[in-house]
Amino acid sequence: MSQPPAIPFDNPLHLGQEVGVEAIIGADEWPVFNMNVDIAIVGAGLAGLTAAHPLQAAGYSLLLLEKSRGLGGRLASYRLNGARCDRGLRYLTEEGRLLSGLVRSLRERHVIRPWITASHRYTAEGLQPNSPQTHYVAPEGMSQIAKELGRDVPVWYSRRVAAITPQAPGWRVRLEAVRAGSDAPLEVTARAVILAIPAPQAVTILDTVPGMNADVMNRLQSVTYDPCLTLLAQYSGNRVPAEIPWRSVEFPGDPDLSWLGLDSSKRESSSSGSDRPLVVINSSAELARSHLDDSDVTEVIEHLLSQGAARLGSWLQTPEHRHLHRWRYAIPAQVWPQDTVVLDTRAPLVCCGDWCGSRQVETALRSGLAAASSVNYQLDHRSLTAISQLWEAQG
Ligand SMILES: Cc1cc2nc3c(=O)[nH]c(=O)nc-3n(C[C@H](O)[C@H](O)[C@H](O)COP(=O)(O)OP(=O)(O)OC[C@H]3O[C@@H](n4cnc5c(N)ncnc54)[C@H](O)[C@@H]3O)c2cc1C
Repeated sequence: MSQPPAIPFDNPLHLGQEVGVEAIIGADEWPVFNMNVDIAIVGAGLAGLTAAHPLQAAGYSLLLLEKSRGLGGRLASYRLNGARCDRGLRYLTEEGRLLSGLVRSLRERHVIRPWITASHRYTAEGLQPNSPQTHYVAPEGMSQIAKELGRDVPVWYSRRVAAITPQAPGWRVRLEAVRAGSDAPLEVTARAVILAIPAPQAVTILDTVPGMNADVMNRLQSVTYDPCLTLLAQYSGNRVPAEIPWRSVEFPGDPDLSWLGLDSSKRESSSSGSDRPLVVINSSAELARSHLDDSDVTEVIEHLLSQGAARLGSWLQTPEHRHLHRWRYAIPAQVWPQDTVVLDTRAPLVCCGDWCGSRQVETALRSGLAAASSVNYQLDHRSLTAISQLWEAQG
């Protein structure tokens, strides 16, 4: 069998778009093909993309392996009845050193812009303003942030990493095709692997690695996430009040709701938010836990709508279009106390993600960078460029 070809990284077919196997080597060759890279990164969310940048800039060949069809993970956008909306990350604020740098860079690139300067919270006293803080959003949808960050990174989509096994000098990564047409190759070999996915999903992969330290595995199993049900609801303009006095409302301590936002006001075409309002309702973790596996979601959708209507206006009860998304791993609850998990294996194997701390996006950025640094330290000790410089250069 011939030697596996290296990824032609200078081929624009690989950059910022789906890497089809046929595009790489020609359809008639792929059955004998085995992709070989320095570093395989599992998960193309914020942590995986952040880990990729300094390593790629340092000259490592790498490949992101992503089970879904697009970049971003929980930076997720959706089209409801043709209208763009965000069903994951709601907005960015300048909380944290890395996040502030990212916000600055994305603003300069016109990917995000200020949305509101003050949000609200709903309590027993009714609607209360929060302290002023600028919230930034991407008018093209928050997934645009991931598209921008992943512009130059090679990615294989629709492939779930099912197992990794040691194969000197590194790892053999076994993939499962998630949709038809992406069924080969089903293996990647890499000198190092970064698992940039929620801890419970990382555990199922680590379970396939022989000789994992039982204590570390037990501690990893104690990392947990809160689930969330996200309801997208679009309303007909003539049933909506002319002025809607809120944009982003939190519900501290509420048994049913955690957040409700006027998503349509993030975008130019309906900046008043009143021509065809689109509202995003996030459930509480408690409600999500009770309904996460419901086969019929009609009842929970009606419940979310009536809870929103009871608090913020009866018009919220009757949308024209609706869509419910279930997040099993929405927000880290029980977190890992360090920036990464560096496993004690012969070849580098490191886990990262927003569960390595309690600051969500800031943690995902920090953890991705720490994973890159750890893998570089274990491989070739190359000089890594600061992420702020890489973001600046990308702009
Ligand atoms: C509804 C909602 C609202 C939120 N709002 C905010 C907010 O306002 N502020 C804030 O800071 N944070 C918020 N967050 C959290 C924030 O989105 C996350 O902290 C952050 O995006 C996590 O990035 P990540 O890279 O760690 O994980 P993810 O984004 O989950 O990325 C992991 C990726 O790995 C992929 N994957 C998983 N398993 C495999 C496998 N076996 N093989 C291949 N690929 C795999 C997944 O498909 C995914 O793309 C919100 C989250 C949700 C769900």
